[in-house]
Amino acid sequence: MTTTTEAKTKTYLNYIDGEWVASETGKTGVSKNPARKDEVVGAYQLSNSNDFDKAASAARRAQKTWRKLTGNVRGDYLLKAASIMEERIEDIATAMTLEMGKTFPEAKGETARGVAILRYYAGEGMRSVGDVIPSTDSEALMFTTRVPVGVVGVITPWNFPVAIPIWKMAPALIYGNAVVLKPASETAVTSAKIIECLHDAGIPAGVVNLVTGSGSLIGPEMANHKEIDAITFTGSNSVGKQLAQIAVSRGIKYQLEMGGKNPVIVANDADIDLAVEATISGGLKSSGQKCTATSRVIVQQDVYEEFKGKLLEEVAKITVGDGMDAGTWMGPSSSQSQLDTVLSAIEKGKAEGATLLLGGNEVKKEGLNGYFVEPTVFEDVSSTMSLAREEIFGPVLALMKVETIEEALELANDSEYGLSASIFTTNISNMLAFINEMDAGLVRINAESAGVELQAPFGGMKQSSSHSREQGQAAKEFYTAIKTVFIK
Ligand code: NAP
Repeated sequence: MTTTTEAKTKTYLNYIDGEWVASETGKTGVSKNPARKDEVVGAYQLSNSNDFDKAASAARRAQKTWRKLTGNVRGDYLLKAASIMEERIEDIATAMTLEMGKTFPEAKGETARGVAILRYYAGEGMRSVGDVIPSTDSEALMFTTRVPVGVVGVITPWNFPVAIPIWKMAPALIYGNAVVLKPASETAVTSAKIIECLHDAGIPAGVVNLVTGSGSLIGPEMANHKEIDAITFTGSNSVGKQLAQIAVSRGIKYQLEMGGKNPVIVANDADIDLAVEATISGGLKSSGQKCTATSRVIVQQDVYEEFKGKLLEEVAKITVGDGMDAGTWMGPSSSQSQLDTVLSAIEKGKAEGATLLLGGNEVKKEGLNGYFVEPTVFEDVSSTMSLAREEIFGPVLALMKVETIEEALELANDSEYGLSASIFTTNISNMLAFINEMDAGLVRINAESAGVELQAPFGGMKQSSSHSREQGQAAKEFYTAIKTVFIK
């Protein structure tokens, strides 16, 4: 992030109480293209606590009216925003690729998912929010209903800059909450474009607010603010835990989605071509910068050499480049610090004794001036090595050989994380063992680890989450409180 008071490019504003406004600091930061280091994508507000206070207060006022609207009326705003976003899909996807580097087709797919999430939650405004429960009193009626939590603070990362803010804001809004979004600074421009869709859909002033700026300043301000009733966060474990501590001390609701170290198991009876294709797609798309990306590849010994040979052959074909170029399969890491993390993980892997089979270097190509790293494959990785333990968030696969499925499951579970996991097998016993014993919130069979469907619950076990779930019907649990009603 570069600080400048005179950005030469388009400057995006905060969105507070229905107005686009500059921060009172008068300062902006610039978001840059990780594929072309010197290219500025846009400038955004470096806000302070007063800016945040105005947003949170506006949200509190607006929520009092918003919660009284019927679900279908709230849903109409989401439907309108979805249509507007659909019309702007190319523009939003371009901003995403320019800001964080994923390829344009992937960015377009993510934006389309954002549209679908808005439509899904628009429909939720017409669905049941309670149960009738038989009372022991024959003259009483007892049932549950749900009420909004209030004002929700939303903090999001750069790796899914459309899907994650929308899968948090859409359920918050449909159940009658107001929101203040603090997006990742790296993708502040993409975030402003999402909020423009909601603004242009005519959402009432104050119901949605956007405050950009440094997470270490706005984040704690948000968690501590008296008008914030709940906080939903996706990002790193260290930041998530800090926010949780504040939330606990204030007694407010919180929800964290954090890191992963996702395994794929390839059994002796697997369809090897499918396993290779899914391991590459799950591990290396978006340059491995998905929380659900495949990272540990645990292969049974009878098929190890065949799998390894085919994997290396296919990984060697991957084209690395600017995500806007049609021939690019894999874009850059999102920033210098992300690139440094990936390269240092590779060096640590080599120093700890893992064998580097492919890649491992920065990509230096004429015409490219960005944070590019080669798709990288290691073998001889043991469970104690950092390659098997630490989240890298880069295009690095660690191969591990095992004899039995029991051993594979034990290794797969030997992690502090538990977000997603895959197995490739044609054997029903292997599948059942995996479903029952794998400690992960998302278990996938004969499919890559990095697949999430918006209508199904999503979230991790162990250190990957606060044990809550997002998306689908599960989102209702966080964004509402149950009220038990007894009428005599
Ligand atoms: P990060 O550094 O934790 O940042 C995430 C968000 O938190 C950004 O908006 C950031 O703002 C803000 N932030 C930074 N410091 C803060 C603080 N002290 N208090 C409050 N907020 C603060 O994480 P990241 O590097 O952007 O994202 C990568 C991580 O996200 C990975 O660990 C990945 O696994 C995880 N992730 C998890 C999921 C999931 O669903 N489980 C999905 C995607 C990503 P600034 O940008 O201004 O610093």
